[in-house]
Amino acid sequence: MAGVPQVPACRVCASYPAAEVTIRSHVGMLIMMRFQKWQGPYCRTCGTAMRREATTNTLWQGWWSPFSLFIFNPYTIISNLVVRGKLNKLPEPGPVPYGTRPDPGKSVLQRPAAYVALLPILWFLFLIVRGG
Ligand SMILES: [Zn+2]
Repeated sequence: MAGVPQVPACRVCASYPAAEVTIRSHVGMLIMMRFQKWQGPYCRTCGTAMRREATTNTLWQGWWSPFSLFIFNPYTIISNLVVRGKLNKLPEPGPVPYGTRPDPGKSVLQRPAAYVALLPILWFLFLIVRGG
């Protein structure tokens, strides 16, 4: 007998379709570093809600140690951008079978905390300009 095709359902709201994605966030504060990840599958709505939250936190908490600034935080942000691409390819999920779905809220760039990321970016540009 042929196997039933495995269609992933959203881990949060149990609706379809959902994508296998891993949302990450990173905190880097001098001597303290913290990595968090949330593995899907997530539907478009739930995944977007979590990704925005995680990316916004990463954008303001993720820069403050040397390894974080150059390695972990750019990786985390790029990884979440890949997740965004995957989630945006999904159609809107069907009705919620049970419970409620998180509100995706405002996009990352509409959240003031995201602009803390400008500080390390400006500092980086300053170093490049001054060095050249
Ligand atoms: Zn969902």
